[in-house]
Amino acid sequence: MSKGTGILREVNKRKLLSLVRRYKQTSRKDLVAQMGVSKNTVSLIVEELMIAGLIEEVGINGQSSKGRPKITLQLAESAYQSIGVLVNDDHIQVTVMHYNGDILENQKIDCSCQHIEQTKDTIVSVIKDIQGRYSNIVGVGVAIPGIVNCDQSIVYESARLGWRNELFDLNKEYGLAIPVRIQNRVRMNALQSIEQDVATSEKSIFFLQVSEGVGGAFIDHHQILSGGSWTAGEIGHISVKDNGPLCTCGQNGCLEVLISELAFAKRIQETRGKKVELPLQDIHSEEVEVIANEFGNYLGKALIHIIHLMNPDQIIIDSPYNASQAFTNACMERVRLSALQIPLMMTNIQFQKKTYDQVTGAALSVFLDFEHNKLSFHT
Ligand SMILES: [Zn+2]
Repeated sequence: MSKGTGILREVNKRKLLSLVRRYKQTSRKDLVAQMGVSKNTVSLIVEELMIAGLIEEVGINGQSSKGRPKITLQLAESAYQSIGVLVNDDHIQVTVMHYNGDILENQKIDCSCQHIEQTKDTIVSVIKDIQGRYSNIVGVGVAIPGIVNCDQSIVYESARLGWRNELFDLNKEYGLAIPVRIQNRVRMNALQSIEQDVATSEKSIFFLQVSEGVGGAFIDHHQILSGGSWTAGEIGHISVKDNGPLCTCGQNGCLEVLISELAFAKRIQETRGKKVELPLQDIHSEEVEVIANEFGNYLGKALIHIIHLMNPDQIIIDSPYNASQAFTNACMERVRLSALQIPLMMTNIQFQKKTYDQVTGAALSVFLDFEHNKLSFHT
């Protein structure tokens, strides 16, 4: 077999695996239709993957038109695992995920992540420990707050951690054989959010997340747009208020400094005169409604830029204020006032009810990188 044929075979194999993962249960016949390849190709790949212990048959699901039983396929118990790592200010979260999405274990390790060497040492030792307990780990995804070049493993800037132009290459620096990819943490979350819905994930989506900061990602057909310097989607640093408060980036009135969870806590503290715990329970109180209304208005102003410049099919908003109607109404009202009519009609804006865990997103990103052939071929 030539090298080219071998790669094509591997690409088809990963595509088939990705379909089995996303549909949970499928059949050879459906895979032929989805992949646009011959029946024979699908049968050969399925056989190979069954022998490798990656997929399995689980019995008969209905009758086909010719009356022959349709055999269902699913991922096997012994299929791949991935490791997700989330770097926070004072701790690291680690998760191990099965290829079918099940979480196999979680850990939280104290670490002063301002110290980059200590952070790397801690991550490497936990990876080695996990590798000793699992047999089929495809890779590690490390989620970092900041601007990250994932191809060269460089953190350009992390204001939260105080890192600037830092190499973060655990394969080169520590000789780890298992592929490790770093990525901005909101982007990893974005992937997780869209992967929940097979139909949605085929479209172009702008994902926006409000947490301690505000970040975003533009995704088109499962691929995150990076831009020229890995900053595409950084909605948090669009200024929406002249002479607004000073942001960590040096500008005034950034969306992040106005509507992040930290900004929210600060505002509530000012009116109540005491420290508050987040997430806030009484989101419907009058004082909260006033703030939520203001925050919605700021968000709406930023969204208009996204609608006009990126023109996504869908905007998904993951924020702790989504349960507040004052927030969603103010946001939509602002958008309606200022956006052009056609994209306004065509863009589906969703205030997501469920929030996703960033460390789970990091683990899932490994499988997506694998399926999209961004992880090295180990054939
Ligand atoms: Zn800023």
